[in-house]
Amino acid sequence: MPHGLLTIDCGAVVRNWRRLCETHASGAVAAVLKADAYGLGAAPIATALRDAGCRHFFVATVEEGEALRGALGEGPMIAVLGGFRAGRHKGLTPVLNSVEQFEGHSGQVILHVDSGMSRLGLPLSELEALAADPAPLERLEILYVMTHLAAAEEPQHPMNVAQLARFNEACLGLPRARRSIANSSGIFLGPRFGSDLARPGAALYGLNPTPGHANPMEPVFTLSGQILQLRDIPAGQTVGYGGAWLATRPSRIATIGIGYADGLPRALEGKLQGRYQGQEFPMVGRVSMDLMTFDVTGIRGVKPGRWIEIIGPGQDADTVAGMAGTIGYELLTSLGRRFRRDYTPA
Ligand SMILES: *Cc1c(COP(=O)(O)O)cnc(C)c1O
Repeated sequence: MPHGLLTIDCGAVVRNWRRLCETHASGAVAAVLKADAYGLGAAPIATALRDAGCRHFFVATVEEGEALRGALGEGPMIAVLGGFRAGRHKGLTPVLNSVEQFEGHSGQVILHVDSGMSRLGLPLSELEALAADPAPLERLEILYVMTHLAAAEEPQHPMNVAQLARFNEACLGLPRARRSIANSSGIFLGPRFGSDLARPGAALYGLNPTPGHANPMEPVFTLSGQILQLRDIPAGQTVGYGGAWLATRPSRIATIGIGYADGLPRALEGKLQGRYQGQEFPMVGRVSMDLMTFDVTGIRGVKPGRWIEIIGPGQDADTVAGMAGTIGYELLTSLGRRFRRDYTPA
C-alpha cells in the first residue's frame, strides 16, 4: 500500500475549465494534459473535461497522444506539441514547428510560430516566406496558427505586447487561419490576448495563473502522507539526518511515509506545515528519501495509519513550491508515481 495519497477532484477541474471559458470570451478553451496532466493523471481528467464539452486537448509527445486517444475515443482534437515524428500522427494533430516538418505530411495540422520564446516554432521569416510562396502548405489544412507567451504571468512584462504584435503581423500572411495564443496566465491578460483557442494547463489544476493576486481557480487536489509511527522523545533529543532538529521540550514526532523520492523537495526543511483535522503543526528535521517527520505534540487524534495533509486548500501547491524555491508546475509534475491517486468524479 502506498503511503502517499493524492485525492483529485475532477469536478473542480471541470469548474476551473468553465471559469476559463467564461474569461476567454473570444473563443474556445482547450486543455493541456502533457506530462500526464501535470502529474495528476491524464485519462480521468480528460474524460471529465470531454463530458463537460471540451473538444481540444494538447499533449507533449506522440506516446502521450496515443494513450489519450485510447482514453477519449474518437472525436476531440488531440494535438502533439513537440516530438514531431513523420508518419506517427494517426488520429493525432501534429503541431508543426518547422517547414521541414511539412514534408510528407498531409491533413490537419497546427502551425506553431515563434514570436519570442526562441524554443520551438517557425521563425517569423519562414512564415513570411510561406505567405509569399504558399506551395509547401498545399497538402495541409491549418486548424490553428499558434504561438506561446514567455512571460504571461507578469502582466506588465513588455514581452507580452511585443509577442502579440509580432504574432499578429506574422498572421497577416495567413489571414483566414484561426489563432491560438493564451496559456493559463495569458487568459487573464485581457481581451487583446483572446484568440480562437486558449491552451491552459496549470489553471485547470488549481495553480494560480495570476501570481501576486488572489487565485481565481478552485483547488483540485490534496496530498496526504500516512503516519507510520509515533514517537515520544525527551527534550535534548534530535530528529532525523544530521541531528538537524533539536527538541527543546518533550515532543511527540509523527513519521509519514513519503519523502524526496516522491517529489517533496529537501528544501522544505523548516518551512512545511502539516494538517490534521483542522490542526496545524510543523514538519521538523530533514526530508528523507521516503520519510518526513512532524512535531505533533499536543495534536489531538493523530495515530499510526491516519493521514497528515501536506498540500491542499490550507497550504496550496504554489505556496509549498515557493517554500522550496520552485514553482507549482515543477512541484506538481514531480509528485511521485508511488502515490495512490483517488478521483472524485465530476
Ligand atoms: C505547457 C503549455 C501550455 C500550457 O501552459 P500553462 O501555463 O500550464 O497554462 C500552453 N501552450 C504550450 C505551447 C505549452 O507548452
